[in-house]
Amino acid sequence: MLTVNAYAATSATEPLSPITIERRDVGPHDVLIEIKYSGICHSDINHARSQGRPATYPTVPGHEIAGIVTVVGSAVTKFTAGDRVGVGCMVNSCRECASCRDGKEQYCLNWHTTTYGAIDKDGTQTQGGYSTHIVVNDDFVVHIPEGISLEAAAPLLCAGITTYAPLRRFGAGPGKKIAVVGLGGLGHLAVKLAHAMGAEVTVLSQSLKKIDDGLRLGADQYHATSDPATFVQLAGTFDLIINTVSAGLPVDAYLNLLAVNGTLVNVGISGEPLSFNPFSLLLRGRTVAGSLFGGIRETQEMLDFCGEHGIGAEVDVIPAEQINKAFERVLSSDVRYRFVIDAATLAG
Ligand code: ZN
Ligand code: ZN
Repeated sequence: MLTVNAYAATSATEPLSPITIERRDVGPHDVLIEIKYSGICHSDINHARSQGRPATYPTVPGHEIAGIVTVVGSAVTKFTAGDRVGVGCMVNSCRECASCRDGKEQYCLNWHTTTYGAIDKDGTQTQGGYSTHIVVNDDFVVHIPEGISLEAAAPLLCAGITTYAPLRRFGAGPGKKIAVVGLGGLGHLAVKLAHAMGAEVTVLSQSLKKIDDGLRLGADQYHATSDPATFVQLAGTFDLIINTVSAGLPVDAYLNLLAVNGTLVNVGISGEPLSFNPFSLLLRGRTVAGSLFGGIRETQEMLDFCGEHGIGAEVDVIPAEQINKAFERVLSSDVRYRFVIDAATLAG
């Protein structure tokens, strides 16, 4: 066992605080990673505060992990010490079900093992990336290409793949009109990725506050959803709308922005039911869809794509002691566009 420094939530209401946790010995198929950076995802906050399913405390969040391999198990062939690697939202799956065999481990029919807050195959609770080291099965580790800095790569492991997967699945590319709802951690990467895929990209944001950023990141158009004229002007326009906003969405208003056969895909997480008029779908052949991050193969494909196109997240690197403040700022959408923890500051 390896004792490592981390930041943990000790209850649903206490601020996160320094802690030490145990990492398992490196097994034949394991990789020990020295974590360099760990992104702060909105899901981390929900988990730390037991919003959604109850967490078991203490719990260490973090599923946007970028670091360097320091030790590899005896049976590991894909990685060697010194490799730049990433770990995202899952660290295991059953490997046997139809989804796993199809490379879609995120949809494992026996449930994938989340990077934190799950019981791993060895019976221990998984602890995430707000720590200095992590031991992960090599099948759930991906290479980070040279050309993306590790801090800019970290958020790609959740926010990047979460937006890349539906863009690919629904055919983003030249001649396609894509709208991205919300210019936050997910949205800003959706804009960069869709632009790099050759699609025409429109940001639909509450206000025009971030318009300069949006256009700089690759958007062709930027509209405020607080302006009713937006919904008139853009009616019937988009082949795909990616909704990154977790708060309740007036679905009919957005469906009306879709072209014939267009798709509204939800990647933001909200427990609230969606409600819409079925005629909004039927009369234009539209689809409402959902998407959960991506499989390991596709995550590697996404990173390679980002390497080729020079895409990384826009990050605000913070020391560990600012994690609690960062949580508050994420909740008030006061971040451009992802906080990333400098893991060196966890060393204590
Ligand atoms: Zn996430
Ligand atoms: Zn499976």
